[in-house]
Amino acid sequence: MEGMKRIGIFLAALVLGALAFAGEFSIIHFNDVYEIQPVKKGKYGGAARVATLIKELGGQENLILFSGDAFSPSIMSSVFKGKQMVDVFNRLGLDYATFGNHEFDFGPEVAAQRVKESKFTWISTNLVDKRTGEGYVGAVRWALVDWNGVKVGLLGLIDNWLELTSPGPNAQYLDFIETGRKYARMLKEKGAEVVIALTHMDMVNDEKLAASVPEIDLILGGHDHAPMWKVVNGTLIWKTGADWVWLGHLKVYTIPGLKPVVIPTEYVVDSKIPEDPEMAKVVAEYAAALDKAMNQVIGETKVPLDARRKVVRRQESNIGDLIADAMRDYAKADCAIQNGGGIRTDQIYGPGKLTKKDIFAILPFGNVVISVKIDGKTLKAALENGVSQWERTKGRFPQVSGIKYVFDPNRPAGKRILEVYVNGKPLDPNKTYVCAINDYMGRGGDGYTMFKNAPRVIDERSGTLLAQVVIDYIKAHSPVAPKVEGRIVIKK
Ligand SMILES: [Zn+2]
Repeated sequence: MEGMKRIGIFLAALVLGALAFAGEFSIIHFNDVYEIQPVKKGKYGGAARVATLIKELGGQENLILFSGDAFSPSIMSSVFKGKQMVDVFNRLGLDYATFGNHEFDFGPEVAAQRVKESKFTWISTNLVDKRTGEGYVGAVRWALVDWNGVKVGLLGLIDNWLELTSPGPNAQYLDFIETGRKYARMLKEKGAEVVIALTHMDMVNDEKLAASVPEIDLILGGHDHAPMWKVVNGTLIWKTGADWVWLGHLKVYTIPGLKPVVIPTEYVVDSKIPEDPEMAKVVAEYAAALDKAMNQVIGETKVPLDARRKVVRRQESNIGDLIADAMRDYAKADCAIQNGGGIRTDQIYGPGKLTKKDIFAILPFGNVVISVKIDGKTLKAALENGVSQWERTKGRFPQVSGIKYVFDPNRPAGKRILEVYVNGKPLDPNKTYVCAINDYMGRGGDGYTMFKNAPRVIDERSGTLLAQVVIDYIKAHSPVAPKVEGRIVIKK
């Protein structure tokens, strides 16, 4: 374990030693894992390092728990639809998991298939099948397990993110507090000494759950991608952080009649941890299969698609139109803006067949499509930012859908936009528009700071990969033939 950074948090540490504990056990926790390969330029994460760390922490002696979001979005999942995640989780010896919204991005049939392939148990307490009242797509509603002599009850609770994904018509959401309370009490009546809720919800809702349901002793959450913890009503809420950059390890000591003492440790998964050779081999096989699958033809273009840098960053480009149309269509938004700098390769494609590899090369950043609610004034400010560095061919140049704008590059930056129309009507500065953008712009990238705090309709945690959105759009509309049609007019 040498060289690894530990962040230990001690809860009620003073009672350690002062009380005789009835029992103890350990948990390994993770949430929101999208990649089996290392992330952040290889510096962190990766299933092979995690396999080593789990072994060092005692392997299967630990109750290994996952709080949802694995099947999507990633380049690998665009091909394997999450099968690679289940395979890796099986090999890591995962014991229990709950659903995240991204488990349903490919629809309920794929989710059900992944559940079947799982050697671990999915728990879904408040997402049920309308027809049967059972846990959704093959999950159980709850579990009660004897772990190292301690009776541990487990729940899987979500907040209502159903409309952000595609769970199908039979999915029924039940209130997480009422349902959580009912089943936590039931588990205690059945003899559970510790009740753990695996959750996939916003932190504010985890806090509500802890405040309202004292029968739940520990909340292990997901959906938030940064590591975080909080104690509410004496209950620890813990989220490990996304993509195996970290791994959570929690020691639980039970005290009859009281909440357990929980001592969590956050391990950083970095290159100091050697790769488990067996797991590294599995990951390499998926990487090779991915490479092969990327040559799959997804459709055809009847016209040359112009992704040249001097075009996508300076004027309307037909591929910019196509990408922005796909974003708007996916988000069911009024309009869409894609920064030209996010469109790469500096090449012309076709006419002819298009492969997955082409689209992932053109949109290589792994951005997801989100949508924001903004007023007309803000939309204009976004376009002003987009054309503010036109003469320097900067990446912020806005390719658009549902928008027509006229600008004069000879005027000072910030005063260049002369006319804006949204779906044929003049922009109303006070009207609210839903605009699809990518998450990079949503973070304020390329100067789009006006999007940073704009309310989300589809947020960063729910959005689909931009490349996948464009692939799906081409598949649905092939052959495509986008043409430059006067969305962007440069006044000379
Ligand atoms: Zn999520």
